[in-house]
Amino acid sequence: MTSMEGLIIRGIGGLYTLDTPSGTIDARARGIFRHENLRLIPGDRITYEMLPDGTAVITELIPRRNMLIRPSAANLDVLVVIASAAPPATEFYLIDRVFAVAACKGIEQLLCVNKCDLDPGDELVEVYTRAGIPTLQVCAETGDGIPALAQWLRGKISALTGNSGVGKSSILQKMLPDRTLQVGELSEKLGRGKHTTRSTELYALPEGGYIADTPGFSEFDVSRLFTMLREDVWHGFPEFAPYVGYCRYTGCLHTHEDGCMVREAVARGDIPASRHESYVRLCDELKDTRAWMLKDKP
Ligand code: GDP
Ligand code: ZN
Repeated sequence: MTSMEGLIIRGIGGLYTLDTPSGTIDARARGIFRHENLRLIPGDRITYEMLPDGTAVITELIPRRNMLIRPSAANLDVLVVIASAAPPATEFYLIDRVFAVAACKGIEQLLCVNKCDLDPGDELVEVYTRAGIPTLQVCAETGDGIPALAQWLRGKISALTGNSGVGKSSILQKMLPDRTLQVGELSEKLGRGKHTTRSTELYALPEGGYIADTPGFSEFDVSRLFTMLREDVWHGFPEFAPYVGYCRYTGCLHTHEDGCMVREAVARGDIPASRHESYVRLCDELKDTRAWMLKDKP
């Protein structure tokens, strides 16, 4: 039997939707996936075979380049943080921890400042430009900047994150006109005690590529996906890299030490102070994390 390749765009109750060169098809997973307790998730590239009865069966998982738990997605090319300077304003710390996860997993980062009709968010743009992270200013209300965002995400698998109320649903709606998504849907579902059962789905962009959409993706989930050792946190801040290794003390953690080249770069303004503050906060949050706790954590 010939094996073909496909991309999982959604999975519900053991039934998967695959995007394949010959269109979208439904498939089940071979029993081996259940036995090995291997959960297939959107973004997974797999091989499948057509059975004589005309149904498709997933036979193998092609090794993942990366994966996130929330949103549950694999092989992401870009993680977009939607931020806003207008209420509800986005905290630097939220942005930095998401970007740190992305950087550590080798996923491209993009900062997209929404609600530019109310506040263009020049400070956000200035800080992240200095940190070497690309930024876009958009307005979901008028549609300004949305084509530029679509162009950026073209041909890639991406996920949007951001604090509740920042405009994620509105942006998705602009980018995926065929998809019905209620504005305010995410915020509503985040109400205490409410349980969101819908899982991540990849939506095809008109220009090619996919966006992962996870209803209920909240700040809480972002904190849960952060699992690393304190001494590795600097990998999540790529603009620190040129200075690491030149500090006075070997084993410098770059938080408060004298003769720290990272801190000197902050003092000179070469590294934004807010980025370093987030770094220190993350290190502090992770001070009790040990290697054995991270075993098997993606
Ligand atoms: P989400 O929780 O991140 O999905 O945010 P929503 O898309 O539900 O948007 C929250 C609120 O902000 C809604 O009332 C939107 O109409 C409003 N909103 C979204 N984008 C913009 C924008 O660019 N400008 C303005 N003025 N309001 C916006
Ligand atoms: Zn240092």
